[in-house]
Amino acid sequence: MAMSGLEIFKLLPKTNCKECGHPTCLAFAMALAQKKVSLDDCPYASDEAREQLAAAAAPPMQTVTFGTGDAACQVGGETVLFRHEEKFHRPTVLAVTVPDDLDEAALKERCETIQGFAFERIGQPMPIEAMAVTNPSGDAARFAGAAEAAGAAGKAVILVTEDPDAAKAALEKVGDSRPLLCCATTETAEAMGAAAAEASCPVVARAPDPETLADLTEQLKEAGCAEIVLHLDAPDPWSELTGLSRIRNLALRQSFRPLGYPVLAFADDGEPDTQAVRASTLICKYAGIVVVETVEPWALLPILTTRQNLYTDPQKPVQVEPKVHAVGDPDASSPLMFTTNFSLTYYTVEGDVEASRVPSWILCVDTEGTSVLTAYSGDKLSAESVAKAMQDADVDSCVNHKKLIIPGYVAVMSGKLEEKSGWEILVGPRESSQIPRYLKEVWKA
Ligand code: SF4
Repeated sequence: MAMSGLEIFKLLPKTNCKECGHPTCLAFAMALAQKKVSLDDCPYASDEAREQLAAAAAPPMQTVTFGTGDAACQVGGETVLFRHEEKFHRPTVLAVTVPDDLDEAALKERCETIQGFAFERIGQPMPIEAMAVTNPSGDAARFAGAAEAAGAAGKAVILVTEDPDAAKAALEKVGDSRPLLCCATTETAEAMGAAAAEASCPVVARAPDPETLADLTEQLKEAGCAEIVLHLDAPDPWSELTGLSRIRNLALRQSFRPLGYPVLAFADDGEPDTQAVRASTLICKYAGIVVVETVEPWALLPILTTRQNLYTDPQKPVQVEPKVHAVGDPDASSPLMFTTNFSLTYYTVEGDVEASRVPSWILCVDTEGTSVLTAYSGDKLSAESVAKAMQDADVDSCVNHKKLIIPGYVAVMSGKLEEKSGWEILVGPRESSQIPRYLKEVWKA
């Protein structure tokens, strides 16, 4: 929690020597509280003052990285309890289990299945970022082998074992790719903490309640672990949910450092639909990493959709890439129309064009994610900006007819746009739902 000017003042020498450029220590403390100056400007600040101020300035929740390169995952670093207060920063990482008791062929197939998922929604990829290698065999060598297979699949790896020997064996194989070691308990904190510290990997602290978790993270810090993730091993879903809410509250509202870490949760029990519900709930409250067992696309999709919706910035409309998009398999004689890059507008238009079964080109004009009428009335959509978008997107190379269909709501710009672009402007329907009729009855006529 940030310190007040008076709290900072108590840590200063109070000699009013003015060397910091301020008339008194109190004036300097007030400026420091407002982040207008640095403590380094006072040459007489004690080590104790420096330590306390650095601790107070640290973010309330640590950001933890596991995996490397393109597979690197960042979790934590959150600042608010509710999305509408600001936004959530780092989307929950979804991990799928890879059990080490699979035979070689099945292990390979499972890794390939997880690796091959490529979901996309409203133009945004929805990846499965990690594989959680589990240790049902109880055998250290098998666990290390499975970890190696998962590591080769190009995803971040979570090593799920309670056995320090299995953890060490796996770290020897995949330690360079910075896996997340899961989990250290009160009983194994020393061995797991040492293994994680030696490999410079983050470690998960697992305990049945927030109080024990808080003690455990302090133990792991003393063992040299720099990055920690929490796992609340609660007896039932309700206890888990209330416990996770309490942890988040203590970390962010009370700045309780021993619980200021992201959370990993398991939703890998039961049928795929149960896992989907559980994982979605955990994403809402407040898991930074969720582990599931299912590889059913119909169960994974709602989990990923929940994540995508929760982690959009409420102050920033979701936008589509401004360019010419092909719908169906259009050619040089196909219709070309424009709409804005507000995702809701664009995908409504795209859906209606698709429904018409007339292959078409859609020029998506950058209006900073606003709809047609909002953009027009806010000066973000004009004959000039559309003509420029046509030029930037090189629409001449798409079609051979020089006809542009514009939304009926901005019919007023048709004359000027014709002048600016040199194209024939056709005024399309006001409502997107009328596009199929327009394309069939007017365009094709
Ligand atoms: Fe006070 Fe330090 Fe500024 Fe001197 S330099 S007035 S001791 S804050």
